[in-house]
Amino acid sequence: MKALTYIEHGKFALMDKPIPEILDPRDAVVRVTLGSICTSDLHIKHGSVPRAVPGITVSHEMVGVVESVGSAVTSVQPGDRVTVNVETFCGECFFCQRGFVNNCTDRSGGWALGCRIDGGQAEFVRVPYADQGLNKIPDSVTDEQALFVGDVLATGFWAARISEITEDDTVLIIGAGPTGICTLLCVMLKNPKRIIVCEKDPARIASSGSIIPKCWSASQKTARNLLSPIPTTVVPMWCWKWQVPRTPSVWPGNAPGPMLSSPWWPSTTRPSPCPCRICTARI
Ligand SMILES: [Zn+2]
Ligand SMILES: [Zn+2]
Repeated sequence: MKALTYIEHGKFALMDKPIPEILDPRDAVVRVTLGSICTSDLHIKHGSVPRAVPGITVSHEMVGVVESVGSAVTSVQPGDRVTVNVETFCGECFFCQRGFVNNCTDRSGGWALGCRIDGGQAEFVRVPYADQGLNKIPDSVTDEQALFVGDVLATGFWAARISEITEDDTVLIIGAGPTGICTLLCVMLKNPKRIIVCEKDPARIASSGSIIPKCWSASQKTARNLLSPIPTTVVPMWCWKWQVPRTPSVWPGNAPGPMLSSPWWPSTTRPSPCPCRICTARI
């Protein structure tokens, strides 16, 4: 089969690879019908994801048809149309039990697809923990409509949810790429007083501005001017429990590497549960 492969820093290539097989009873193999490109794929290409393994097939957002399942898989069967979650997760470890599946401590847990194991820019993909990460697509929903469920739409929905938006709020969305647009659509469900999208690309400004009339699309400078008279609540992106102890990050910025920091968390002496808005929000 053909597979878009991460070769080395700065280089992807379309390669011939064998069709993946079931390696674990909890695996499924999915025939990919649609896959998307994420900025995280570009992060791999540009060397911002040190954990990415050269030789892996990229992409972590796809829909398809289940081709085969391992003996322990119960929620899907061959022939089912499914979405594939960007995260593969065991559902049983400390972090999975608390909803932080990105921090799953399993070897194939967290963001593995298209980073540490072969992803979905291919004709077939093996999905570990199929019972956790595959969801059946209803007959009334097309593959195209379901495609973003696995990553960018879920990200936008989550961002809107944890931001605790009220109808009195002004909401700033930074960036009007696919995830920004999905965030905008989800923020609109909360009906805030005003939405400002900060974006510098003219085409993206036009597309986000055309979605709703009260959405202001603005440059960084304009957005700053629009916001300056407004009392601002800054929602922390990372609460204390992800910040101590600090470990080398897989991301630009100061977010700790989830897999590296996970075993440390239970040994901290901070109060539990964490009182920050992210942890107290229902995720
Ligand atoms: Zn992504
Ligand atoms: Zn887990």
